[in-house]
Amino acid sequence: MNVMNWKAGKVYPMTRGEPRTEAGDFDPGRHEALLRTDPGGYAEMVRTVTAFGIYLMDREGRIQSWNQGAENLTGFGEREMLGQHFSALFAEQAQREGQALRNLDFAANNRHCRDEHRRRRLGGEEFYALSTLDAVRDDAGEILGFVEVFHDISEQKEREERLYLRATRDPLTGVFNRGHFNETAQQEIERARRFAEPLSLAMLDIDHFKKINDTHGHEVGDTAIIGLARTCSNNLRKIDLLGRLGGEEFAILLPRANKQAALEMAQRLRLLIAAQRIPLQGQELSYTVSIGISTLLPTTRDLAELLRHADAALYQAKREGRNRAIAWFE
Ligand code: GH3
Ligand code: MG
Ligand code: MG
Repeated sequence: MNVMNWKAGKVYPMTRGEPRTEAGDFDPGRHEALLRTDPGGYAEMVRTVTAFGIYLMDREGRIQSWNQGAENLTGFGEREMLGQHFSALFAEQAQREGQALRNLDFAANNRHCRDEHRRRRLGGEEFYALSTLDAVRDDAGEILGFVEVFHDISEQKEREERLYLRATRDPLTGVFNRGHFNETAQQEIERARRFAEPLSLAMLDIDHFKKINDTHGHEVGDTAIIGLARTCSNNLRKIDLLGRLGGEEFAILLPRANKQAALEMAQRLRLLIAAQRIPLQGQELSYTVSIGISTLLPTTRDLAELLRHADAALYQAKREGRNRAIAWFE
């Protein structure tokens, strides 16, 4: 491929002031002028950029140029990459999913494709790349090839993931915290309404938990809470949501489960939990839970009401002697 004919990116009008190109103050005219007067210097400038991988591809996605940044980020040198299909850069899973060709297709049809995906380095290590792919066209609008710019966003991704987990999970058990449970449960309720599907909610509370704490100490109490969360999450369907509402109280949202199905699930969980034996310095600790269930009705206003009904049923289960599951009765 020879000197490319660079077309300016889409022009986005700003709310105030002059319209600008997508890249802010980037002026394609200056670049075109430089390309005309000093194409060698221009190519050298792109080649020596170290923090961003920049390379050209032909129409099929075969790599035609390879800059220093691309080598730094991937460990692959120019000699081995020229002529290779750019899908070789993608991590195994992204390769299996045909991500590379999809991106190429998207860029061909929409000029531009921005994507985040995992790539592989020489040696097999994977990293998270942010890539922007642009179709390069001649004056007649015919696609000559593509140019891609990519960089490593692994650190940023990990930071985001950590922050997300911290904001949404209960640190002791790793299940959804109250806020995140409420948020996702509310969405599920709206979904159930939209598709006229049943939905139920179960509220669990460990029986006589104060006694466990008082007898064995807070740490053993924590172990019991962790055991409960684990037994629940190991025995729920993928679509169920488990959250710790606080203390030794958990909630499970059961999409597509009517009252009967929710009761059956609750009984199963209750028996599994009662059968748990937590090893404790030569002894074994066991405990039971009480469960209250509520089911979405046409008259149910919101999640708060569903929670209130489940709580009332839970209270009833406690009153009737604990270690039982009861459904709210309207
Ligand atoms: P009931 O059968 O009526 O539920 O009796 P209970 O003793 O379980 O009573 P309740 O549910 O009110 O007890 C909650 C106790 O849980 C009180 C509090 O000290 C303890 N607790 C709350 N959060 C934690 C925690 O994170 N770890 C531990 N170990 N204990 C907690
Ligand atoms: Mg309790
Ligand atoms: Mg409680």
